[in-house]
Amino acid sequence: MFITMIASECAPVAKVGGLGDVVFGLSRELEIRGNDVEIILPKYDCMRYDHIYGLQETYSDLWVPWFDDMVHCSVFFGFVHGRKCFFIDPHLPQQYFNRGIYYGHKDDDERFGFFCRAALEFMWKSGKNPDIIHCHDWQTALIPVLLYEIYQNMGMTHPRVCYTLHNLKHQGVTGGHILSETGLNRPEYYLHYDRLQDNFNLHALNLMKGGIVYSNFVTTVSPKHAWETRHTEQDFGLGHTLEIHHQKFGGILNGIDYDVWNPETDPHIPQKFDINHLDKKYDNKKVLRNHCLLREEFKPIISYIGRLDHQKGVHLIKHAIFYALAHGCQFVLLGSSPDSELNDYFWNLKNHLNNNEDCHLEIGYNEELAHLIYAGSDMMIVPSLFEPCGLTQMIAMKYGTIPIVRDVGGLSDTVFDADHAHKPYEERNGYVFSDFNDQGLESAMYRAIGLYYSYPKFFRELMTNAMRCDYSWNLPGQHYLNVYEHIIEK
Ligand code: ADP
Repeated sequence: MFITMIASECAPVAKVGGLGDVVFGLSRELEIRGNDVEIILPKYDCMRYDHIYGLQETYSDLWVPWFDDMVHCSVFFGFVHGRKCFFIDPHLPQQYFNRGIYYGHKDDDERFGFFCRAALEFMWKSGKNPDIIHCHDWQTALIPVLLYEIYQNMGMTHPRVCYTLHNLKHQGVTGGHILSETGLNRPEYYLHYDRLQDNFNLHALNLMKGGIVYSNFVTTVSPKHAWETRHTEQDFGLGHTLEIHHQKFGGILNGIDYDVWNPETDPHIPQKFDINHLDKKYDNKKVLRNHCLLREEFKPIISYIGRLDHQKGVHLIKHAIFYALAHGCQFVLLGSSPDSELNDYFWNLKNHLNNNEDCHLEIGYNEELAHLIYAGSDMMIVPSLFEPCGLTQMIAMKYGTIPIVRDVGGLSDTVFDADHAHKPYEERNGYVFSDFNDQGLESAMYRAIGLYYSYPKFFRELMTNAMRCDYSWNLPGQHYLNVYEHIIEK
């Protein structure tokens, strides 16, 4: 099968969060299974160019329709750890992708609207005819709309589209200008409840809704979240649309790439370890303490890695820090936020805790340090308000780090409470709490810390249970292939 992934992120070259990991990991798995996979990305100035092998211009003369004009683009090709990637570089004074960060500009809708049009124009002009186009989140939601409304009429009738929702909080709600820019035009046609009209703001277009309506199949990143998006307020206003299209909608749990996240082979950790050599994990704990200037004492390290966003439960993260420090633990945080208010909030907290020898907050993005934290911590918290899948809990488990998570989305599908899960003991792998408040979080942290100090043998068993879990791309890869085959046959 020939599959083209079109996305705004791909790890490790252009990664903001889990979306990047998924685009890379799924592509790799599909290739291992004998499929031909190509990835199309914007050519950002802030990418990790050190992870692209053999980058060269392959298409110097791509002209993309935009407004009533044509925009000149170059297309580059390079390998990202073996994956075939095309990078689109528009030559425009607005410098859409040369702004030092990936997201967070006022014209993000325009930037990614352009990217969608350019990706399809590139496929059309270069004669690419994939069986499947797989696009992701609101940034590439216009791909199926443009394909079925413009490119099919030009003869591009073969590709089928799978569209994955990674985060419904960001839907690309925008104005009619995007229609004239992309060449879709006809606002009276698209501003319709059955097409792109936002379900609440009747004068606005909702790109994610358009992606859902026009794709052949829509997935989200865990079965529980698929249910939540149809039956709870976690639909972010798209519940009715998903209900209408429920026959082409389902949840497939994300995998993680065990080539990247594996304590047996990880080049970023000083001491490799596995389930039979668990003591070696503690050499990493020592190095993590040195790195973070934490004192050497018999205490567990609890950590948090992730975006600092309200979705992630920032007030609970703060509460976890103080609860850990008050209950004989150390705490390490690695995170950043594009929101300056939240960033300032954590910078203040960092300054406040600066002299504390049991605590280290690292504000920023640091892929290498993330590996060391997964390997050197004893527990990791994920107290999210909502979490479509969540990767950090799955990565933590692979490194024998016990996850403490809230009972939502993919966290519920992957973490099974040591005391309360309806699972045999050997399948329990962490701690889970329900209430999105301090007491809820404490109920799980209290039990986890208690087990660590009072029943070390059982804590170690829980660690090995977690390490035995298989959250590789193996099963999800097969599920996606089943979806692809299903929509090709239809
Ligand atoms: P989301 O996609 O909502 O951001 P996920 O849990 O699905 O959250 O994925 C987060 C991914 O991003 C993980 O691979 C995690 O290790 C990584 N990550 C998040 N923040 C940072 C950071 N500040 N530094 C390094 N890696 C980070």
